[in-house]
Amino acid sequence: MRELNLALQQAADLIGSADALIITAGAGMGVDSGLPDFRGNEGMWQAYPALGRARIDFTEIANPQAFADDPQLAWGFYGHRLKLYRDTVPHAGFALLQQWASTMPHGAFVFTSNVDGQFQRAGFNPDRLIECHGSIHHLQCSSGCDDIWPADAFTPTIDAQQCRLLSPPPRCPHCGALARPNILMFDDWHWLEQRTAAQLRRYRQWRPQPNQPVIIEIGAGTAIPSVRHFGEQQQVPLIRMNKREAAVRRPDDVAIPLGGLEALQQLQKLLD
Ligand SMILES: [Zn+2]
Repeated sequence: MRELNLALQQAADLIGSADALIITAGAGMGVDSGLPDFRGNEGMWQAYPALGRARIDFTEIANPQAFADDPQLAWGFYGHRLKLYRDTVPHAGFALLQQWASTMPHGAFVFTSNVDGQFQRAGFNPDRLIECHGSIHHLQCSSGCDDIWPADAFTPTIDAQQCRLLSPPPRCPHCGALARPNILMFDDWHWLEQRTAAQLRRYRQWRPQPNQPVIIEIGAGTAIPSVRHFGEQQQVPLIRMNKREAAVRRPDDVAIPLGGLEALQQLQKLLD
């Protein structure tokens, strides 16, 4: 307990003296908003019982081949998620992060592996955000056209029990082929990365401006290490919030072994 209090105080000091906030977020960020966790089959199959009955795990459905083999099933899964993320209210931790960043001269920049668009829904500036695995709110052609477009016009009707799309699937406006989410999936050689590449370019333009940024990493595990790698490459003090794997490698970094929302709320008490 004493160790946790020291870590929280150290984190509050870092935030208090920072001139910018870099937020790096993984799947754990969504859990406090009630979003399902796809890390194990248990959570996945609880949310999608039809996939459980068919013994289809996350890597098999989050796969371009699934769209080729059974588009109604693949879009049953992704269409359901699209609706879910559109309807989700981001938890209170998002507003705390925004509040802290608003007092800093260079504001916030977000790096997230989540495809759910929750930072934008919470009001974060979409021009200050990197979605390293793409976004479910954007579509691309499954047949090779080089274009990414918003999914806004697609309002899927889903049979949740069977995990099947009942309404017509989205189509490529250029060639009429099946459209798929602009998300980097497993065994995916055709994900279009230009949207994410443009986000990275904006980050590289912004990054030299703050002198004393701090990174808050939330819910980013070791299984998919892109978020951790990005944060550790920045040569910036890092506050790691992670219930299960909070250990940090560098002496100046801070480990907070709590879930994101709880950690942020504890910090708010110290920053008040
Ligand atoms: Zn096309």
